[in-house]
This record gives sequence, structure tokens and C-alpha cells, in this order.
Amino acid sequence: MAIIVEKYGGTSVGSIERITAVADKVARSHEAGDQMVVVVSAMSGETNRLLGLANEIDPEASARENDVLVSTGEQVTIALLCMALHKIGQKAKSYTGGQAMILTDTAHGRARIRSIDNSRMMKDLNDGNIIVVAGFQGTDEEGNITTLGRGGSDTTAVALAAALKAGECRIYTDVDGVYTADPRIVPDARRLDKITFEEMLELSSLGTKVLQIRSVEFAGKYRVPLRVLSSFEEGPGTLISYEEDAQMESAVISGIAHNTDEAKLTITGVPDHPGVAHQILGGISAQNINIDMIIQNVGEDDTTDFTFTVPRTDFEAARRTLERVSNELGARGVRGDDAIAKVSVCGVGMRSHTGVADTMFGALAEEGINIQMISTSEIKISVVIDDKYTELAVRALHKAFELDKA
Ligand code: ADP
Ligand code: ASP
Ligand code: MG
Repeated sequence: MAIIVEKYGGTSVGSIERITAVADKVARSHEAGDQMVVVVSAMSGETNRLLGLANEIDPEASARENDVLVSTGEQVTIALLCMALHKIGQKAKSYTGGQAMILTDTAHGRARIRSIDNSRMMKDLNDGNIIVVAGFQGTDEEGNITTLGRGGSDTTAVALAAALKAGECRIYTDVDGVYTADPRIVPDARRLDKITFEEMLELSSLGTKVLQIRSVEFAGKYRVPLRVLSSFEEGPGTLISYEEDAQMESAVISGIAHNTDEAKLTITGVPDHPGVAHQILGGISAQNINIDMIIQNVGEDDTTDFTFTVPRTDFEAARRTLERVSNELGARGVRGDDAIAKVSVCGVGMRSHTGVADTMFGALAEEGINIQMISTSEIKISVVIDDKYTELAVRALHKAFELDKA
């Protein structure tokens, strides 16, 4: 008898009908002999609705209260799913993050899981219960409710799978696996049977929302057997593989990722002397704002321009800080643009191939798409473009790298 952790995302529990369907599916697995732990998200749209309510009162509302508010979405779903399971004769018990003893740090809105005490859950599982856990939430040492960042239910599921030494963690969503690009943008994107852990980590970090980046990190650390599947139809889904040679399809590029959640800031005319990068970026980091891509150019007049990207939600705060730093440094000024997209090509096969950048830039040029920033690593190339060209760029790149062909 294996412990199986299954996670159902927002659309998969988006209505009473869907919740009933999930209950049936989980009950079947339970009856087949597995011990079932189910992690659920809030019903689709609910987290955004709750965030909207807070925003109506105060866009800068207390982070602690914000977490108390948004965590209620998942609490609704755990209760409804347990009721649906009871109705069909199953023993089931709901757990909030705190009740599941998911201990996090205190970073409200982006908390990290520190530890999970599985003793209560193990007892209930061994008593024959199906365990239903609220995703996306935990509590800190003081008992405050925390949340794990958007998409955080994936991380709850993988962390629970690690803590319970589960045989498999299944992420059920509204697509039937991980594709070569977002199938909602590229109709001929292909589902991958397997993807290497490394590639999945890269795609998630580049904005592919099908798995939250933290969940992939967790999976790698504890070698959690992880699969992405559809809750709407049967199928094998996509297996995240830890084998070094799992890149079965020997493709140079395994996927195209896009991300429209970032914004770009530029500080111009900065006197060019040692320490300015530290002064500029240090001020932003001190506010816990993550900086992603950075470029610096030195002009002929011995001043330098500095451009970097930050999460769009932190754009205004970052701009205010940068304006202060600009005055301190005697720089020329600050420019901001939050209508950008980051589009990336990714694949471990890039390591041993040349010409990927050339193909990428050529495909974008052919569509008349201007590249604003570039960053590369061993297994990816990312560009920042105007966000109105996101879909065009993703489709053009998918075609240029022939990802529609098996
Ligand atoms: P859930 O609510 O189940 O957590 P998400 O919306 O977070 O679902 O993630 C699933 C979505 O991820 C899909 O509907 C799809 O549009 C998007 N997506 C983006 N890139 C990919 C990709 N390469 N493969 C599969 N899905 C992708
Ligand atoms: N409900 C949360 C969100 O919408 C967490 C999740 O669905 O994973 O981000
Ligand atoms: Mg998600």
C-alpha cells in the first residue's frame, strides 16, 4: 500500500460538479488500495476575488491580514471535498495548513516551508481516512497564517509527498501534461512524456505556470516522483525525470516559456565608479524585491545606464526606491515600463549545440519584434520584448525550433 499525494488546481475544483468528480476519482484510488492525501487549491477565480476585496480597502493592506484573507479560499475547498467524499461513503478529514503542521517562515505572501510534522496525518491515514489538505498555506512559529506565493498549492503537494514519503505526487490540472509551449497559445504544442528535472526547473523559473518553481525545487531536493496530469481526462501525463539521460527526444530545445509578470526599470546617466551597481540594486534588494535580468551599458560620457527587471507587483515600490537612489547618485533619471514580456527558449540539448541564439533572434527579427534585453545560461536564452507581441513571439519560436514535430 503506497501513499499517493494528489493535487487538484483551481479549475479542477472550480464548481460543485468538479469537486464531486474529484471525490469520485480519489475514492476509486483509495478503494484500489492506496492511502490518499489530496491537496486542493481555491475554486478558480477565488484567490483573485479575495485579493480584489483587499485591494478595494487598501492596496497596501497588512501582509498578515492579506494571508488570513486569501487562505480562506482553500479552506472552502477542503470542506466541500470532504463533504463530497462523505456523501459517497468515504472516511475523509480536512486539514488547514496549520492543522497539517506545515511550519513556514514569516514571509507573508511568499513564505517558505521549513518543516512538516506528519504525525497527525499518519495517524488519520492509518485509521483509513482520506486526508484533504488546504494548499498554499501554513503557519509560522507564532501561529500566524502564511501563504506560499501564487501557485503555491503545487509546493504544498510536493512538500507533503516528501514528508510522507509518498510513492508518487500527481499534479492534476486543466492540461494533460507539460507541453513544448503553453498549449493555450500554441495549438500545435506537443505534450512531453518525460521532461528532465533540470528542464522543468528552468521552465518554471522562466514563468511556465504549470508547476510553481518552489515545488520543482522541493521535488529535486527530495527526489519526489512527480507527474503532471489532467483532471478532466485519463492519460499518462508528463513525468519529471531525475535520470541524467532522460532527454529521450534528443531535442536541442525542449520548450518555450513566457512570462508577463515582470516590469523593467532603467536608471540613466549614473556616474560610473566602483560600487554603483551595489548602491542601485542593494536598495531594491533591501525591500525583498527580486531582481531578475540586469544589463549595464557604459556611455561615451563616462556615465552608465542600468536596466533590470522586477516582479510587476513590485514595480511601483521599486521605482520609488530607484528614484531616491537616482537623486543620491546624481543620475540623469529613471524610466519604467511594465508592458514587457520575457520569452525564453530552454533545453539541456543547447549545451552541445551552437546557433540557438541565431535561430532565436532570426525568428524574432522576421516577425519584426524588437529585443530589449537578452540573458543567457547554459540551458536557456531569454529576451525581453514588448508584451503585446508575446503570443506572436512564442508561436514564431515554437515553429523556428520545429517543436511541433516529434
Ligand atoms: P492549476 O490551477 O491547476 O494550478 P495553472 O493555471 O496554475 O493550473 O497551470 C496550468 C496552466 O499552465 C495551463 O492551463 C496552461 O495554460 C499553462 N501553461 C503554460 N505553459 C505550459 C506548458 N509548457 N505546458 C503546460 N501548461 C502550460
Ligand atoms: N489559490 C492559490 C493561487 O491562486 C494557490 C494555488 O492555486 O496554487 O495562486
Ligand atoms: Mg497552478
